[in-house]
Amino acid sequence: MSTSYDAVVIGAGPNGLVAANHLIDQGWSAVVLEAQAEVGGAVKSSRDVHPDFVHDTFSAFYPLAHASPTIRSFDLEDHGLRWRHSPAVLGHPLPDGSWAMLHRDRTVTADLFEQAHPGDGDAWLELCGQWDRIGDQMVKALLSPFPPVRHGVGALARLRSVGGLDFVKTMLTPASDLGRARFGGVGPRLIIAGNAGHADIPLNAPGSGLMGVLMSMLGQTVGFPAPEGGAGGLAHALAQRFESLGGEIVLSAEATRIQVTDRRATAVFAAGERYVARRAVVADVVAPHLYGGLVIDEDLPARTMKSMRSFELDPGTVKVDWALDGPVPWASRPPHDPGTFHVADSVEQMTEALGQVSARVIPANPFMLAGQMTTTDPSRSPAGTESLWAYTHVPQDTLADGGDEGIRGTWDRDDCERFADRMQARIERLAPGFGSKILSRRVMGPHELEHADANLIGGAINGGTSQLHQELVFRPVPGLGRAETPIRGLYLGSASAHPGGGVHGGPGMNAARAALAHSRVRRATGGLLR
Ligand SMILES: Cc1cc2nc3c(=O)[nH]c(=O)nc-3n(C[C@H](O)[C@H](O)[C@H](O)COP(=O)(O)OP(=O)(O)OC[C@H]3O[C@@H](n4cnc5c(N)ncnc54)[C@H](O)[C@@H]3O)c2cc1C
Repeated sequence: MSTSYDAVVIGAGPNGLVAANHLIDQGWSAVVLEAQAEVGGAVKSSRDVHPDFVHDTFSAFYPLAHASPTIRSFDLEDHGLRWRHSPAVLGHPLPDGSWAMLHRDRTVTADLFEQAHPGDGDAWLELCGQWDRIGDQMVKALLSPFPPVRHGVGALARLRSVGGLDFVKTMLTPASDLGRARFGGVGPRLIIAGNAGHADIPLNAPGSGLMGVLMSMLGQTVGFPAPEGGAGGLAHALAQRFESLGGEIVLSAEATRIQVTDRRATAVFAAGERYVARRAVVADVVAPHLYGGLVIDEDLPARTMKSMRSFELDPGTVKVDWALDGPVPWASRPPHDPGTFHVADSVEQMTEALGQVSARVIPANPFMLAGQMTTTDPSRSPAGTESLWAYTHVPQDTLADGGDEGIRGTWDRDDCERFADRMQARIERLAPGFGSKILSRRVMGPHELEHADANLIGGAINGGTSQLHQELVFRPVPGLGRAETPIRGLYLGSASAHPGGGVHGGPGMNAARAALAHSRVRRATGGLLR
């Protein structure tokens, strides 16, 4: 049997749902086919860890979604989304009992930095001031197709007001050096380097500084918000908005093949049905599954197959969730309770851990990102308890274990549990008695992550490395650096496309816009072009 729509969207991750919402807003009919039994992709939550606790299965904090003009324009609050904020955005506890902190109020952050190292408070406020002048244009430029003509020009016009080439140089400086160049104390360096560590760019490589500043400044402007009741609230609001406008979502419908006729995508096969795409297919699918998978080799130009051989995944991930019967028993309490916290003894240890992952070594002292969800949103678990998670990166293909436990990197249950013990011991050092607070624990290694969302190949969370050689026009591979693909009417709208990973909807929006623009050209030329 076959049904027909203007657009068939494959995948109900945030990018697929953003694309679907934009297409329906423009008057197209659309269906979203989702392989899993629930919408959301890597934006989901459940009570699987403990019945009284909500845990986010994958992502948890959404500064990029909150800053995204696209997602903001959908008015998701009208579809049940409520954002919650923790008292402080981010904390970084150190073994000597001190904390580096990013408070939502920049003057509080600056005061804390100033107390630790005179001069750093003003230096922080100066960076914030520069961001106020140029940040909005930079975020818009980063989220639009490359080259970002309109917002790029907007950012250039503001460049002089933030110091011209000196500002550009700051943004190009690796995160490990950037903090040292502008600040005397360790606090701002830890915050910027830790925020850079959210991408898989080595902290001593260009690109990491921009990432560190971007995330830190988002922390100072929009905060790191989380949806009330769980990450799933964001995905459900996107899905509900789409359905309220007449869109259809088919769950448990894995797309297995895209039909290509005369080099044009014409239909998608899923769960025994054929879904005809009159105008476009948008694939919220990781690039290696699209090229040579959903689109068979014979339908692809040889050059696409060849360039896809150089596509590089980002590292794997191990994520641990804990249900705690009380707050994290910090050895030394933070000055303000943070939603997120980072675990590393120093910027150098962070750099070493991320470097080890690139060198295919499992870190002995993994750099961890963690979230206190009940601190952020009290609805996540009973009063006085904490819903906690931490994740860290591991090599896709392991050469050795940097630690003593002989973890092999096969990421079977034994590897995962032993590595989770290593991660847990890192928290226990900072919060003695942590282990005694645990009611239950869930460990998701690379296989579990991929099983729950096929885009997370080997636990890669960003649809491909974020390093400079696979960004902008090089994403996913040179020659395919836009949402357009070699197949007419087929658009790549997942994190594998520019601007990459994170929940901001950029790739989905770019794909939807490209589909709409080509459809207009096609109509205007009577089908002669595109
Ligand atoms: C552990 C983890 C923590 C993260 N933390 C954060 C965070 O705190 N903040 C943040 O902004 N980002 C975070 N991210 C990154 C962010 O979640 C992803 O970059 C984002 O979800 C990518 O969106 P997407 O729509 O491209 O893909 P996905 O969210 O992966 O969604 C893709 C969807 O497509 C479906 N699909 C795939 N193939 C098919 C097929 N053949 N047929 C039908 N359906 C298919 C999948 O089932 C899935 O539902 C995190 C990711 C992970 C894994």
